[in-house]
Amino acid sequence: MENCIFCKIAQKEVPSEIIYEDEKVIVFKDLNPKAPVHLLVVPREHIASVRELEEKDKEIIGELFLVAKKVAEKEGIGESGYKLAVNVGEGGGQEVFHLHIHLLGGWKNGKR
Ligand code: AMP
Ligand code: ZN
Repeated sequence: MENCIFCKIAQKEVPSEIIYEDEKVIVFKDLNPKAPVHLLVVPREHIASVRELEEKDKEIIGELFLVAKKVAEKEGIGESGYKLAVNVGEGGGQEVFHLHIHLLGGWKNGKR
């Protein structure tokens, strides 16, 4: 999708700190971290938001969660725990209209 920052990151037209990538999913550091670990789990395919999800997207939704789990373990926050968050629409705080899961964690002493 033209002019979509996450499409550009997925296509490496815009640099980012990539933590993980495969055929369907890319994970990179949030530019404005709101936690010691703040990553974005993003499908390569452009889907604007949860509101645009369709039956055919069932598989990619599953992939996103499995990648989130895998990356959280790799980052060492699996056991301490973490938060997965999806903002939907402007009222839900969504600013980038390319579907993504925020992966947040790494707080010390369980504080957040
Ligand atoms: P949301 O408000 O759920 O749409 O989240 C968008 C997130 O994308 C915010 O946390 C931003 O800090 C982050 N963000 C925006 N542009 C970039 C970028 N170029 N690289 C990494 N993260 C970004
Ligand atoms: Zn996009």
